[in-house]
Amino acid sequence: MKHCFTKQKIYVFLLCLLFVLSLVSCEKHEDQRTELALGTVCTVNLYEKGTKKLYDDCFSLLRELENKLSVKIKTSEISKINLNAGKSEVLVSEDTFFVLENAKKYAKISGGAFDPTIAPLVDLWDILAENPKIPKVEQIEQAKNLVNYENLILDSTKKTVFLTEKGMKLDIGGIAKGYAADKLVEFLKKSGIKKGLINLGGNIFVFGERSKQQKNWNIGIQNPRESGTMGILQINDATIVTSGDYERFFEKDGKRYHHIIDPKTGVPKDNEVMSFSIITDNSMIADVLSTACFVLGKDEGFALLEELGISAICITKDKSVYISDKIKAKFFNKEEFGFVVK
Ligand code: AMP
Ligand code: MG
Repeated sequence: MKHCFTKQKIYVFLLCLLFVLSLVSCEKHEDQRTELALGTVCTVNLYEKGTKKLYDDCFSLLRELENKLSVKIKTSEISKINLNAGKSEVLVSEDTFFVLENAKKYAKISGGAFDPTIAPLVDLWDILAENPKIPKVEQIEQAKNLVNYENLILDSTKKTVFLTEKGMKLDIGGIAKGYAADKLVEFLKKSGIKKGLINLGGNIFVFGERSKQQKNWNIGIQNPRESGTMGILQINDATIVTSGDYERFFEKDGKRYHHIIDPKTGVPKDNEVMSFSIITDNSMIADVLSTACFVLGKDEGFALLEELGISAICITKDKSVYISDKIKAKFFNKEEFGFVVK
């Protein structure tokens, strides 16, 4: 009898232990987490190493950056710079200064195709409005006169930023997510994480080997005219960032007006490009170049990328796909969608 009771006790004890262990492992391991941050849907996937604490830290890091860099948050450093345009310089954090320094650097490199002072034109076009309208020529001219990255003054000793003209305004939507992805990967690597996938509203970063059997990660390339992907790119320890005319747009009289504006004309860029994806190891550079190359167009875009030694995939309106030689063998076209690799 006594023996039987002990056995029962052990059995109950083991059951309890199993239950507790399952609770602990549930709390310890989350495959991935998706939350809204930086004004977009962000996913972090750390596979078996994903703990609640780590995911919490990741999203805190993203929100901290958003609070500095968002043009939509009134108290952000970018908003402070905008509010003080034509009045006074603003002291900023290392993060904001670094992003602006690079934004200006790549504005120069791209001959002004990328311009972080684009906000007056972005506001005027207001692509996301309920009933977006095509602005009048005079309005476009007026806004365009305020767009000039040369009038963004950066003092690297004092870490201050100044917009020289009243009405000037920064919009770093074309570079900030990339910077955030880099910071996140840096943080994760420092935390000892060897493998992960980050997707900040389409800014993708993969690091480590996908699995023992497969070193590379399969990244889908968005079909610019239908939902779903038109091909797969296999990469490892790399970032891929795409700028496309399908992301945010409205149509009027059969014409598409999207969110990437040519600073020279003040109008959404209408060239042969539907999407430009940049593939490299720095997401901020990929981000800034995807926007710049979209504006520059296929030939000028690829010429700039060649100078910089950076790879890309460009999909044009005639459904041609242009791929840098270095990554051509890593792209797999889903032929059923009618895209042709050139
Ligand atoms: P992306 O999707 O990275 O190409 O960034 C597009 C966003 O960057 C837009 O939503 C605008 O906020 C901003 N933007 C649009 N045109 C430009 C431009 N020519 N240079 C810099 N930023 C731009
Ligand atoms: Mg960009």
